Amino acid sequence: MTLEALGVSGVAVRLPEQMNDLSGLIIPGGESTAIGKLMRTYGFYDAIRQQHGAGMAVWGTCAGAILMAREVLDALPDQEELGLMDLAVRRNAYGRQVDSFEADVEVRGVEGGPFTGVFIRAPWIESVGDGVDVLASHDGHIVAAQEGDLMATTFHPELTGDPRVHRYFLDSVIGA
Ligand code: GLN
Repeated sequence: MTLEALGVSGVAVRLPEQMNDLSGLIIPGGESTAIGKLMRTYGFYDAIRQQHGAGMAVWGTCAGAILMAREVLDALPDQEELGLMDLAVRRNAYGRQVDSFEADVEVRGVEGGPFTGVFIRAPWIESVGDGVDVLASHDGHIVAAQEGDLMATTFHPELTGDPRVHRYFLDSVIGA
């Protein structure tokens, strides 16, 4: 796991109580509708909002970024967002599964050259509110953003073996 490689111990969070002692939470990729249903069943929506209010940083990747957003474009009718970040995110913005791709992405605050963005049926960030910093864009669309102790990336840094975005989360988002 990338976090361990950086000397940080991660836990796989399966129940809301496990978040009590965390300084940061990563909401992974997958399918935002399916993740959302499980989050509802297990009471994660309120628990995440509460823990964030108590100082827990949150990073959403891909489907996780969709869940972070204030507004989801092209959402399914019963899809619920956490609404933590002032973002409008468009689901499946690049098309279908076959339209997945890799691209070099310059991420603000991440040194050492471009980062390989792995975009898997990815969303893009259509617009951000005033308090949100754009960290990366690709082809004219925002693909990474930060709002204080919240971060959203529409690509999958954990699939590259390159720990620099995780490092950024630990250094510049947790405790921001
Ligand atoms: N297409 C997925 C969704 O809408 C996100 C894909 C991903 O997380 N890689 O939830």
